[in-house]
Amino acid sequence: MRRTMLTRFAPSPTGELHLGHAYSAVLAHAAARAAGGTFRIRIDDIDGSRSRETYVDASLADLAWLGIDWDGDPVRQSDRLGDYGAALENLRARGLVYPCFCTRADIAASLSAPHGPSGAIYPGTCRTLPPATREKRLVAEPHCWRLDMARAAAEAGKLVWEEAGQGICTADPQAHGDIVLARKDAPASYHLASTLDDAAMGVSQVIRGADLVASTDVHRLLQALLGLATPIYHHHALVCGADGKRLAKRDAAASLAALRAAGVNGAALAADLAAARLPAGYSLQMP
Ligand code: GLU
Repeated sequence: MRRTMLTRFAPSPTGELHLGHAYSAVLAHAAARAAGGTFRIRIDDIDGSRSRETYVDASLADLAWLGIDWDGDPVRQSDRLGDYGAALENLRARGLVYPCFCTRADIAASLSAPHGPSGAIYPGTCRTLPPATREKRLVAEPHCWRLDMARAAAEAGKLVWEEAGQGICTADPQAHGDIVLARKDAPASYHLASTLDDAAMGVSQVIRGADLVASTDVHRLLQALLGLATPIYHHHALVCGADGKRLAKRDAAASLAALRAAGVNGAALAADLAAARLPAGYSLQMP
């Protein structure tokens, strides 16, 4: 039996929202409303050094301008640190994570650091530290926590997810290597926080940009390890500018604030986006 439709839009308050965010929010909102379901907002403010309160307010104002209404109060990752810590502790007690003391420079200098879908594949330097060395360094040095991918993947076995409109996809978490679950400067990585939040919020369908499809390999693995439900995923095409490149937060002309200031009607824009009609000069493309 299908769960009631619950979708979410999860902006990171590190800059202004642009047309790409609007497209994602409109799709998730429309899917929830068409099914008589729930649409929620989550503020991905786990990265305290880059998140700004002004961008939280601006993002909510942009959504309201588009005519998007949401259910309940926005969920904030910064309120959920206890859950992230408990999940990490669970994995630690099972020997599935280990502390890593390497700097970015250490990893870049390693000859065996090929790139995977999440960036450089960690060469595993700290995975095999003798326990006494590890204990000593744990109290003295900054460290992140990494997933022991080989062990985790072996424990989880074969993993699949349903991609809306496409069918069953096989997750390949091993391609990412020993990913970071808790950072030196933030108590949870995007992967850990997002997976736990989607489950805690009861998200039945994750609707997000196709740039995040590879992350689903890791999210699916974390769901299996932590006994969490797996939503259906819909990774949609990305809004690209005249240069064919996907929009970034630095593309000021495409910011919703700029469009609003130029007199664009937000509700009309949202209706166009829902029908995959983009303003002149923009297009939708799969990466
Ligand atoms: N906060 C993420 C972003 O802005 C989105 C995360 C997600 O949808 O899973 O890219």
